[in-house]
Amino acid sequence: MKLLDPVIEVEKYDGIQIMKNIERACRTCYRSEDKITDTSYQNLLKNCINRGHESVLEHEKITVRMLCSINTYKDLTRHRAGASFSIESTRYCNYSKDKFDNNIKFINPVYITDPNNYACWLECMKNIETFYMVMANNKATPDQCRTMLPHSVAAEVCMTCNIREWKHVLELRCSNKVHPEIRQLLIPLLLKFKEDMPEIFDTIPYDEDFPKEWYAEIKIMK
Ligand SMILES: Cc1cc2nc3c(=O)[nH]c(=O)nc-3n(C[C@H](O)[C@H](O)[C@H](O)COP(=O)(O)OP(=O)(O)OC[C@H]3O[C@@H](n4cnc5c(N)ncnc54)[C@H](O)[C@@H]3O)c2cc1C
Repeated sequence: MKLLDPVIEVEKYDGIQIMKNIERACRTCYRSEDKITDTSYQNLLKNCINRGHESVLEHEKITVRMLCSINTYKDLTRHRAGASFSIESTRYCNYSKDKFDNNIKFINPVYITDPNNYACWLECMKNIETFYMVMANNKATPDQCRTMLPHSVAAEVCMTCNIREWKHVLELRCSNKVHPEIRQLLIPLLLKFKEDMPEIFDTIPYDEDFPKEWYAEIKIMK
């Protein structure tokens, strides 16, 4: 078995260009394309968001890849409008094969801080892996083996949202009401979006008490 920390990889984007593209689309409404200057997107976007004229944000999208747990994608895939997902399938991936290093990967639950509870979790995951391999070696299909896989199993997830949906997802999913594994991934993403597109994301609150040392590593896609 392998214990992994979550990772989030963001496609390369130019935040200013995204905001300028949204401005150009939005100005169609008022036929005020002639008012575009190098910085006019700033006020325009703030005004649109204040008035709830948010559909204009749907003209642009950003893709991220996450190494996360079933825990995480089970919650995130509840977002239906403006979000698209492609997710590693436990129906087709046979973790007993060389391609998967003959092991099951789990997301390390750093937030289980009590050593006894962590030891219980670890023991349980080891047993699950052992019995998965026993069944797989006995020619059980991944469809059959996967019935015993728990929430902690790691998966690759590709998630694309338009900017309006990212705003909505991040507004909902960075608070202290949200599962810690989602906060691990989405708080760093929100902080990046705040830096690159402040006119859209700056006012979104997040759990500022969440331990920074638990933040997922954030990478830029090659
Ligand atoms: C802290 C927290 C706890 C939660 N706990 C639970 C739980 O215990 N059990 C559970 O089942 N779920 C739970 N959820 C999931 C939640 O109920 C939503 O399903 C999830 O957040 C997706 O958000 P959304 O509905 O805004 O969908 P999105 O797909 O992100 O939709 C965006 C927006 O589009 C509009 N929209 C989308 N679909 C429709 C529609 N069919 N009709 C009308 N308008 C629509 C809405 O305005 C919506 O806000 C929880 C979510 C959070 C953040």
